[in-house]
Amino acid sequence: MTLANGARAMGARAIISVRNLVKHFPVETGFLRRETGRIKAVDDVSFDLEEGETLALVGESGCGKTTASHCIIQAQAPTSGQVLFRMDATQPPVDLAQIDKQALQAARRNIRMIYQDPYSSLNPRMNLLQIIGEPLVINGMARSRAELQARVAELLSMVHLDPSAMNRYPHAFSGGQRQRIAIARALSLSPKVVLADEAVSALDVSVQAQILNLLKELQTQLGLTYLFVAHNLAVVKYEADRVAVMYAGKIVEIGETEAVYTRPQHPYTEALISAAPNPDPDTKYRPRIVLSGEVADTGNLPGGCAFHPRCRYAQERCRDELPALSPRARADEPEHLSACHFAAELDLAGIARVAESDPP
Ligand code: SF4
Repeated sequence: MTLANGARAMGARAIISVRNLVKHFPVETGFLRRETGRIKAVDDVSFDLEEGETLALVGESGCGKTTASHCIIQAQAPTSGQVLFRMDATQPPVDLAQIDKQALQAARRNIRMIYQDPYSSLNPRMNLLQIIGEPLVINGMARSRAELQARVAELLSMVHLDPSAMNRYPHAFSGGQRQRIAIARALSLSPKVVLADEAVSALDVSVQAQILNLLKELQTQLGLTYLFVAHNLAVVKYEADRVAVMYAGKIVEIGETEAVYTRPQHPYTEALISAAPNPDPDTKYRPRIVLSGEVADTGNLPGGCAFHPRCRYAQERCRDELPALSPRARADEPEHLSACHFAAELDLAGIARVAESDPP
């Protein structure tokens, strides 16, 4: 079922359903700190995260993807909207934005976050036993030191680190190993959902592949659901089942990864795909679309389609009318949605299409 703004109603497979999520930051100026504007970091975002899938939120920096993920886990309070979380199939969903602190803490045990920078996200004064074991201690899930050590050893093995290293400190580990430690900490409470905020972007490319492989392996092993926040489309192509492309606080395209990459419906997605490094030799001659102009200022968005000042297909209608997110381009892809007035008419280049048409 599709809602008016493009999001599906919470289906049987959804574990998190984000509906009409809004996060605005007031801009205050002057001695009296009067509100003179609003930064629309996240503006009416809706999507379902289905159990066991990996959904990637992608876009340039400042598009709202990280703020959206922080609002989901309630690290930032949304201005409005719902974040429905279904603990298990037998229970009705709860709105994380509305429940009390105790219930939110219980929900947060099931939704954990991995941050971008493994150098700053780990406390340098704590050893691995303390770092990974801390959530277990806080939540009363280790009855003795021996039990804590056993669980931390198990978690270190799961991320392919030597359990005997639990008394060592983060500085003794490389960037990739630190991210493994952060993953072990995130998994300590056996969560259902992991939000990975640019989880590999601070790492070398060869190490990125190892961490991505590990995340996939853990997903299969533990039945995890991932929300993967990333700006690198090459990473997303490998990792995600579905992709949601964000621009200026809104989702402008969402669909299965293969469909979005090979048959993009939004000009912004087309430009992102053309700019992504692609190791596939068949597609390496793809012409790069250079976007003119600056990334949209979410404190001062243009009217109509926010992408119109940078869009090479923009027409008069785009300056006046905001396009809704809807399945507009192909009848055979009802779950592939985009927010472009001309999605059905444009002949946008995806990876395979370009590979067919480009000369070597
Ligand atoms: Fe470009 Fe117009 Fe489509 Fe916006 S609605 S992406 S400006 S063609």
